[in-house]
Parts: sequence; structure tokens; C-alpha cells
Amino acid sequence: ATSSDEKAAALSTAPSDSPTIFDKIISKEIPSNIVYEDEKALAFRDISPQAPTHIIIIPKVKDGLTRLSTAEERHVEILGHLLYVAKLVAKQESLDGFRIVINDGPLGCQSVYHLHVHLLGGRQMNWPPG
Ligand code: 5GP
Repeated sequence: ATSSDEKAAALSTAPSDSPTIFDKIISKEIPSNIVYEDEKALAFRDISPQAPTHIIIIPKVKDGLTRLSTAEERHVEILGHLLYVAKLVAKQESLDGFRIVINDGPLGCQSVYHLHVHLLGGRQMNWPPG
């Protein structure tokens, strides 16, 4: 998929609290390339990588955390944990510099409504991002 496919997917996906494809990845109903797992978080390779290393980090229990803009006080601990897992996975992948992205909503190019952190690395990143 190209970045414009991603944008089309994001613009055609209505924000919702319904189960997502990530629930099936958590339950292992659909296969994924898991690189890290603990009691609270799961990290797996993105099916449409935008960098040599592109990993998605998610909470195993969604608990209403569909997107960052609707996060509540009770989510503070898991939000911090996801960033810490990103750091652990970056080290595991031997990344020398990386980028963390959280897309929020259609304008932010979010296509899956189960909050997730993108970890991208293995190439020179550009600024500003698209
Ligand atoms: P978003 O655009 O919502 O920030 O990111 C969703 C990401 O999930 C995209 O980068 C997309 O490629 C990835 N993705 C969507 N479906 C699957 C899937 O079934 N398996 C994996 N491994 N990644 C997926």
C-alpha cells in the first residue's frame, strides 16, 4: 500500500469504538509478526511498512482507548507504557535513531481505532512529515 492508500483508508474510516483488526491480532486469530509482548502491550510489524523497520505498539486491553484525542486520566499509565515499549523495541531492533508517530482521527490519517504507536526507523527521516 502507498501512503495515498493509507490516506484514503483513513478518510473512509469513521471513528468508532467497535472492535478492530487489532483485536484479532491480539487474540492471534489473524497472524502477525510479533516482535515484543508483555502483559499490557503487544508490538508487531506493520503489514505495509513505511520504513525498513515499522512496528505497531498497542495496548492489549483497549479500555475505550480508540484514539489519543479521547484518552482519559485512567489511560495515563498505559500511554506511558507504550512509549517505554517503543524504546525497548527500538533497542531490540538496534535502531540508531527512530521516529514515534500517533495518528489521530481522519485528518491525522488514523485508519484503525485502537490507539497505537508507530515506531519507524532504519532510514533517514525527513522533516516536516507529510
Ligand atoms: P493508522 O493509519 O491507523 O495510524 O495505522 C494503522 C496501521 O496498521 C497502518 O500502518 C496499517 O498498515 C497497519 N495495519 C492495518 N491492518 C493490519 C494488519 O492486519 N496487520 C498488520 N500487521 N498491520 C496492519
